[in-house]
Amino acid sequence: MTTPMMHQYRGIKEKAPGTILFYRLGDFYEMFGEDAELAAPILQIALTGRDAGDGKRIAMCGVPYHALDNYLSKLVKAGHKVAICEQVEDAKNAKGIVKRDIIRIVSPGTLTESLSERTNHYLASVYHDMDWGLAFLDLSTGEFSMFQTPELDVLLTELSRINPAELLLPPELMKKPKPWVGYYSTVREGKTFCGQSLRERFLNQQDLLQEFPVGTQAATALWVYILETMPGIDPTHIIEITTFRSEHWMFLDQWTRRNLELTESLRSTDKKGTLLSVLDLTQTAFGGRLLKHWIDKPLLRQDAINQRLDVVEGLTSDSFLRRDLFKLLSEVYDLERLMGKVSYGTANARDLLALAQTLALLPEIRTLLSASSSENLKSNVPHLEGLDSFVSKLQSALNPNPPLTLRDGNIIKTGYSQEVDELRSISTGGKAWVAQLENSERERTGIRSLKIGYNKVFGYFIEITHANAHLSPPDYQRKQTLSNAERFITPELKEYEQKIIGAEEKLKDLEYELLLILREDVRAHIKTILHIAQVLAEIDVFVSLAEVAVRNHYVRPQIKDDGQILITEGRHPVVEQMLEPGVFVPNDTLMSKSLHLALITGPNMAGKSTYMRQVALIVLMAHIGSFVPAKKASITLVDRIFTRVGASDDLAAGQSTFMVEMQEVAHILKYATGKSLIILDEIGRGTATFDGLSIAWAVAEHLVQQPKFNPKTLFATHYHELTHLQDDFSGLFNLHVGVKERGEDIVFLHKILPGKADRSYGIQVARLAGLPQNLLKRAKTLLLELESSQPTHALSDPPKQVAQISLFDVPQIHPILQEINKLPMEDMTARQALQYLFDLRERI
Ligand code: ADP
Repeated sequence: MTTPMMHQYRGIKEKAPGTILFYRLGDFYEMFGEDAELAAPILQIALTGRDAGDGKRIAMCGVPYHALDNYLSKLVKAGHKVAICEQVEDAKNAKGIVKRDIIRIVSPGTLTESLSERTNHYLASVYHDMDWGLAFLDLSTGEFSMFQTPELDVLLTELSRINPAELLLPPELMKKPKPWVGYYSTVREGKTFCGQSLRERFLNQQDLLQEFPVGTQAATALWVYILETMPGIDPTHIIEITTFRSEHWMFLDQWTRRNLELTESLRSTDKKGTLLSVLDLTQTAFGGRLLKHWIDKPLLRQDAINQRLDVVEGLTSDSFLRRDLFKLLSEVYDLERLMGKVSYGTANARDLLALAQTLALLPEIRTLLSASSSENLKSNVPHLEGLDSFVSKLQSALNPNPPLTLRDGNIIKTGYSQEVDELRSISTGGKAWVAQLENSERERTGIRSLKIGYNKVFGYFIEITHANAHLSPPDYQRKQTLSNAERFITPELKEYEQKIIGAEEKLKDLEYELLLILREDVRAHIKTILHIAQVLAEIDVFVSLAEVAVRNHYVRPQIKDDGQILITEGRHPVVEQMLEPGVFVPNDTLMSKSLHLALITGPNMAGKSTYMRQVALIVLMAHIGSFVPAKKASITLVDRIFTRVGASDDLAAGQSTFMVEMQEVAHILKYATGKSLIILDEIGRGTATFDGLSIAWAVAEHLVQQPKFNPKTLFATHYHELTHLQDDFSGLFNLHVGVKERGEDIVFLHKILPGKADRSYGIQVARLAGLPQNLLKRAKTLLLELESSQPTHALSDPPKQVAQISLFDVPQIHPILQEINKLPMEDMTARQALQYLFDLRERI
């Protein structure tokens, strides 16, 4: 590196503090100094050094420009920001050192390379000014959305749904408490949340911006950030800002989404074992992303749900249409991300060809839709029109097999441009001329092995082996001696070379220019193309839902607003897929305004959780507009679904299981309304028995004793005492899961039956789990003792009194039981408890 270049490098480096600078040198992006030392181990590339020009050596490493995507995403995913510096003038025109500048600063939220196909990748921003404002943007697809709410909880819920790769925050929100601690955050100056740049760009959306001033501030910060980090790029594909109103979509909190395993499973972040995995037969990437949105945001309005169900129903009865649409959709490329590339100026000829191939499918898709019996599908036809002549133009312009590179020619089809054709004939004609010259020179010299070759250093040359060198004619000028041959040039050869090379260079330049023009033509159609993408995405989702419905024998749910959930032979959509066909035991559900809390008892492993989730999933699927796994279903509109399931321990955030459980219950009680559906699975289990029982009892009472507050609740519990609540509260009814005793063992029937379970079968389940025989025997003896000292009358008093009338305060209690009562069980490990049990046995 010469000193002027180092000088230029340092100047540019200063412009982007806190980033790793990718400095373009020829075919490489080079990193120097600390940047190189930081990046080399992450990218697993060799660290070298070079003279910095001032007598010092500087560390250096580099990556080839054509592999940028991969290296860039590695660094950014490791949490670094990367500034990309390119040559910004043609080297041919440069006086002195070629001008370079930063064209993009890439951070986790602005990365558009190597993203996963079927999920969105969001940059988000939060602002607080009385209300909370949230804006988010997927730069790869152009989706831009914002909203505002008085409730921080609502904002956090939405934030967890979109799970942004980067979050922009004003400095005051970095103070404690920081609910955004899990997100990659970038603090932005307060002033970037204000200003006019967003308003100026989205002139026709002033009403929206006025309606949500705080959301607009968050959106402004996003806009300023991308203008700043992508100087010189016009993100044309971001065509509008959308918002959503809480009255249109069901809000699902993060616990519910996780517990019901809607799009991510509890065990991992992939979609295996999720509702999405069952419903997703979409063929396009944007269809896949849309289905995920639909699942995360069920509808609340009956007419909107029925509209979707109508389309799905239409498609279920037409297997040919489904098959044909699937086939065409499987050939559709990701139009949204293609438009992103066109906007950024990174789309190459293959991308444009992919666009042309996709758009060329539209006439056939239109024909299929027009012939369908669904009015809704038919109504899409006009939205898929208008680009046919543009497609023909693209197809006539682009070579059917273009290279990935932009400047190496071979992009434009012969016949599209006269100038291209002429230059091409000179350069290909030139090759023929060379072949002909080779022949004539062989004849002239009599050297059969004479060859005409080409390399970058000498251009064209005539090569003769040493053995024949003495035969070379006098007009041959020696240029190079190799170990076995001599290379010559002639004036005639050089003259023609100029012509050919000149033509080839011109041709490459011209093809590149024509590609840029085509790309700009596409830019002019971005809005229409993105609209087409939306329409195709919906069709894809509808076909997918219909195909799943047919394959899995789902039915159309009736959507009502009568406060009733009636499901005949319902199944859990995911669990049934994991079992052999026919093994899953279907169950009915009947809940209404007057019978709205189902208290479910039964041993572990009987199927309580499965049943409750099944009801929640069926209700949710109905609100998405999907058919449901049942024989018959009539589903009332619900405003929200809440779940408190299992021990979703948030140890990472330093919270105990019980604390999390109580927070979730508090959240439910705060936000549930009479139109909500609530799933509570064994609440109170995370603390001492009587505490837990008391809390579960009080929660159950709370949910049934207020006159107008009758949310539909499925409440599974081990506290059999609660089953007596049925006598006091008419809204509560008992259900249990059937088991059959077979000798010492039990068989799970997985059948939900009316009434309470008579026993908990804990010892039988423990036997199934493989606990040692002598321990089981002892447990059984203890159980009998405990049961014999239980008061036999029904426990209908308030929970506090349960504790009072219970065994431990009564004088005739066995001393060992009294000892057990004093045990610090909350602080004991399972091992200590087991040890205690062994000690007890010794003492008896
Ligand atoms: P619980 O909540 O009562 O402990 P789960 O709902 O977790 O029980 O069910 C335990 C297992 O029983 C499930 O993983 C599933 O394999 C099986 N199961 C549950 N319900 C059914 C059903 N209706 N039909 C067939 N198998 C079922």
